[in-house]
Parts: sequence; C-alpha cells; structure tokens
Amino acid sequence: MELTDKPELSLVIPVYNEEANLSELIRRTLAACDPMGISYEMILVDDGSADNSAQMIREAAEKNGGKVVGVFLTTNFGQHAAVTAGLRTSVGKYIITLDADLQNPPEEIPKLVEKLREGYDVVGTIRENRKDTFFRRWASKTVNLMVRKLCNGKTMTDYGCMLRGYSRTVVNAILQCPEHGKFIPMLAMSYARRTIEIHVKHADRMAGESKYNVWKLIALCMELAGHYRNLMLSALPGGTDLLTGTSIFPLRMLTYIGTLLAAFGILFGLYIFVMTRIHGDDWSQHGVFTLFSLVFIFMGGQFVAMGILGEYIGKIHMNTRGRPQFFIESIAGRKQK
Ligand code: UDP
Ligand code: MG
Repeated sequence: MELTDKPELSLVIPVYNEEANLSELIRRTLAACDPMGISYEMILVDDGSADNSAQMIREAAEKNGGKVVGVFLTTNFGQHAAVTAGLRTSVGKYIITLDADLQNPPEEIPKLVEKLREGYDVVGTIRENRKDTFFRRWASKTVNLMVRKLCNGKTMTDYGCMLRGYSRTVVNAILQCPEHGKFIPMLAMSYARRTIEIHVKHADRMAGESKYNVWKLIALCMELAGHYRNLMLSALPGGTDLLTGTSIFPLRMLTYIGTLLAAFGILFGLYIFVMTRIHGDDWSQHGVFTLFSLVFIFMGGQFVAMGILGEYIGKIHMNTRGRPQFFIESIAGRKQK
C-alpha cells in the first residue's frame, strides 16, 4: 500500500498506560487484518500515558510504515477525547474503535467489516460472557439503562463495549459536534440510518488494571447525563479560577459529600430500626433519632442536586468558551498532508 493511498479501514484505539498490552495488541490486530485483503490503518492514540506506551507506539509506527499510525496527545484527556482525536486523524471509509487492553479480541474485526460493507452505519456489539468484575458490570448496567432512557427509541443492548464499527458519514457527523464530553456510541446512534448489533467475544483484560475507578465511572455517568469533567473548570465565580481551573474537585465534592451524607443517613436509619426492635422505642428517644436520620438523607439529596446543577452550569460555561477538547502533539507513521 502506498503511504499516500487512503486506507479503506481505520482502527481507532485509545491507549493510556498500556505498555504491557501494546505489543500483543499490535501483533494480534495486524494478524487479524492482514488476511482480509483490505487496506487499513491502525491508529493508536496515546492519551498522555505516563509509562512507555508512547515510545512503543512510535517504534511500531516506524516499523509498520503506513499501517500503524501513532497520535500523541499532550496529556491525559480521557478515553472519549482520545477516541475523538483518533477519529479526527482517521481517513478510512469504515472506522472501528476498540480498547487497547485486548478485552475486545481483534479477531472479531472482520465480522464488523463485513457488516459495514453491507452498508450499516453503526455496528454495535454485544459481549458474550462478559469478563469483568461485579462492580464494573453493575456500573455498566446503570450506564446502559441511562443511555437507553436518553436515546428514547433508538437503542443498543450494550453501550459499554467499545468494539464498534462506524461509517465515514457517521464519524463526520460526530466530529462536527462541538460539545465536549461526547459519549461516542450514543452520539453515533443519533446520526445513524441503519444500525445492527452482532455478538462478539469478550476477554479478561490482558494486563494492567482497568483505568476506571469508582470516581471515573461516576464522571462517566455525569457525562452521560450531559456533563463533562473539563466543563467544570472555573465554573465558580471569578477569582476562584485557579482552584477550579486546575481541578473539578471542589464542585464534584458536593456530589461526593451528598452521597456520603445520604448513605450515612440510610445506615443510621437502619441502625435505629434494628436497635428499637431490640431495645424498644425508648432507645430512639421516641423518634428523635429517626428524625436525624431523615435529615441526613435529605441534606445529602440536596448536596447531590447542587452537584448536578453545578455540572450543568460548568458545561454551559465551558461550551461558551469553546476550548478544544484535546491537543495532538504529533503524529507518527504518516506522511504530512
Ligand atoms: N483509556 C484512555 N484514557 C483514559 C482511560 C482509559 O485512553 O483516561 C483507554 C484505555 O487504555 C483502554 C480503554 O480506554 O484502551 C478502556 O479503558 P479500560 O480498559 O481501563 O476500561 P474498562 O475496560 O474497565 O471499561
Ligand atoms: Mg478494559
């Protein structure tokens, strides 16, 4: 394949501290794509990794001239921003996104290509026997439920799986959306004409740990409801810009504190319930304690509500400012256009 030729297929893979998975990922992906006889590019987006990932991507791009393209972001912008950067760089007629940790087996790529060639705009996937922790699965269920509610009508079974195929039309539509915090699978659905879902295998994360901890998942849920981390920057009145401009922590704290308070209230209520069963109504001062527990629950609820309002305000503020969602530092493995 000539370097200047436009490949037919673009693979977009976000990479954040995946040095332990990269060589295997590249090897298996190339092995899965080569026999298809399709021209393709494998775009690895380094999302500001702190480990050796960027260097490994650079080397792979040099070695597999034209097939492996490295996109290097200036710092960690998050999975969906990294994917967006990859989409922006891609030139293929068909685009497939997948994760770098080999939870989405690259061997499934031909199945998606087949469907894209049949003319589907979005090819979703359903994970067979999901290999994730209980907590991750539960979180994913909640996300799927929210998305389904938000997308009224058009729906997919499994939104968590990043192994997905898109047509160029849909990708262009996604790229034209200026808002931050795009949840790509959902956005794609809203522009697609023909969609289909296929079953794919799901494996354990090959190495390393999930980059999603509890807080990142909460952030993802916030995004889904139309919020985004970066949009929180300087959501507070002037002067506090330094505090809020470097971190969203102050505003997010409202949600965290609220959740904790409410949880405490509920636990306290349960405790009172049990104790009054054992010691009788006198133990709870005839309802005074119960009142405390209720106050905690409602106070917590109010904090959470304020936190959510803050997310909206922050989003409006950041979108008004219109700062770019990511910065590409350099691209390796492709001739300068
Ligand atoms: N990722 C990223 N930036 C981040 C977090 C994750 O590019 O800030 C990438 C990560 O390298 C992986 C994909 O997004 O390729 C999914 O992350 P992970 O496997 O940790 O999530 P999970 O499988 O638990 O949903
Ligand atoms: Mg994973």
